[in-house]
Amino acid sequence: MANQGKSWVCLVCGYVHHGDEPPECCPVCGAPASDFELQAPTPAPAPTAPVTRWRCLVCGYEHDGTEPPDACPVCGVSSDDFEACTAETADAAVSSDGSRVVILGAGIAGVSAAESLRNASPGVEITLVSNEARPPYYRLNLTRRLAGEIGDEALPIHPLSWYTDRNIRLLEGKEATEIRVEKREVALDDGTALPYDRLILTCGAHPFIPPVPGADQEGVFSIRRLEDVHALEALLRPGSPCVCIGGGILGLETAGALAKRGIKVTLLENYGYLLPRQLNREASALLSEAVTRLGIQICSQAAAAAITGNGRVEKVVLEDGTELPCEAVCITTGIRSNTHLARRAGLAVRQGIVVDNHLQTSSPGIYAAGDCAEYAGSVYGLWEPAQYQGSIAGLNAAGIATEFGGIARMTTLKVLGLKMFSLGTINPEDGSYTEISEKKDGCYRCYLFRDNKLAGAILVGDTSLATAAARILREGTDCSAAGLPVTVHTFESFLRSHLQG
Ligand SMILES: Cc1cc2nc3c(=O)[nH]c(=O)nc-3n(C[C@H](O)[C@H](O)[C@H](O)COP(=O)(O)OP(=O)(O)OC[C@H]3O[C@@H](n4cnc5c(N)ncnc54)[C@H](O)[C@@H]3O)c2cc1C
Repeated sequence: MANQGKSWVCLVCGYVHHGDEPPECCPVCGAPASDFELQAPTPAPAPTAPVTRWRCLVCGYEHDGTEPPDACPVCGVSSDDFEACTAETADAAVSSDGSRVVILGAGIAGVSAAESLRNASPGVEITLVSNEARPPYYRLNLTRRLAGEIGDEALPIHPLSWYTDRNIRLLEGKEATEIRVEKREVALDDGTALPYDRLILTCGAHPFIPPVPGADQEGVFSIRRLEDVHALEALLRPGSPCVCIGGGILGLETAGALAKRGIKVTLLENYGYLLPRQLNREASALLSEAVTRLGIQICSQAAAAAITGNGRVEKVVLEDGTELPCEAVCITTGIRSNTHLARRAGLAVRQGIVVDNHLQTSSPGIYAAGDCAEYAGSVYGLWEPAQYQGSIAGLNAAGIATEFGGIARMTTLKVLGLKMFSLGTINPEDGSYTEISEKKDGCYRCYLFRDNKLAGAILVGDTSLATAAARILREGTDCSAAGLPVTVHTFESFLRSHLQG
């Protein structure tokens, strides 16, 4: 895959291909050549192949058939949240058999890395190390699990046989304690060491706990692992008061899940409105109404000054002196990448482990992907990018030079009972954007344009055009044919006709 002058970016997953023509299909996500766009601003051709596969925009689950399923069997979102794929995933065999690849961390990035590596390189020795004592699972579904929508048995990404069938050695309950770059080995907490030829770091992230006095008491939780859900479940009964700190996606989903279990939830947010990274104020107001309808009390612009109790949490005290009695506190104030091993090994680390376009770290032969990786100055902290980055890191570790070109951030809610979708730029950054919006019948739609192209979208209530908007944004479609600036109604007709055409 030498650079032959032209670069083609996969509009679905961000994979970058160099050559005169795009590849027949994307080796990472299986999208056809028609889903590739020249990195120079040239419109991509519309796909012509019949749709035989659908991909969930929330969790990446793929469904075979001419129609998407009514609901995603993994994360539960509706058919609106599926987008069409039109080709099978490529099998890119290479000849790096005989080498050893160690993958540190068995979340979605690690599992995807192992899968693409195995597909690309049948003979390579793959060891996937997990410090969790259970098979890799759908972490994004922990809120559905907390809400009681699914049980523990629905969480694993694959059955254990999937790993053995592919000759992927899965080490469960083993913590990597040191990366010895010079020796090319990883030390484990059981005193053994794993030699490697290539190393992939997919060790994820941990919850950020702000320095609030009393946050170390019993009854203070954050949700990252299944054990956290079990512990919270064991403590709370219907009617128990619980304070959730943090008005982001995870905070809202946690609050919604607890409310569904009959817990009396108070949600603290200190930005001024909910989901400031995903919504504008108008959309957020609709969301607040839905959250309040679930019985969740929102304390706006409220910051916790202390968590009081006698070793066990009793109250949250706000900065204005208000006291909120509670039996549990859930802190969802963001994540921090797990970077300590990389930092100690001398790899470049900022917010996350710094990676280049090939997801290679500052140390040749060591790659990083998912929540632990910082690409182009940011850590995505989302499922879909972690999955794609994992696949791309796996290909690179297999010796297939593969680039990641970034993908638009996309967010949907799962457990609140309100459909919401946000994509790309949410608030105009300067006067170069045009915004159209409409609020009607409890629904809100807003589209942002720049240079005649869709730059961002917010859909609340009705998300049926989410896939269409995502596609048009990713393709960089020239929307001037819609007669910009237009009404929401006219633009949505354009969206529909563009997709059908
Ligand atoms: C409750 C919840 C709900 C979410 N909902 C959504 C959602 O709706 N949509 C969305 O896009 N994203 C969501 N996310 C975020 C998404 O789950 C993450 O972005 C994704 O799981 C990141 O995958 P990863 O493989 O990079 O990291 P992780 O899933 O964190 O996996 C990393 C693994 O490495 C292990 N590990 C770390 N250090 C070591 C070590 N030294 N040795 C061995 N193993 C190690 C960790 O224990 C973990 O098992 C949610 C997250 C949570 C917690």
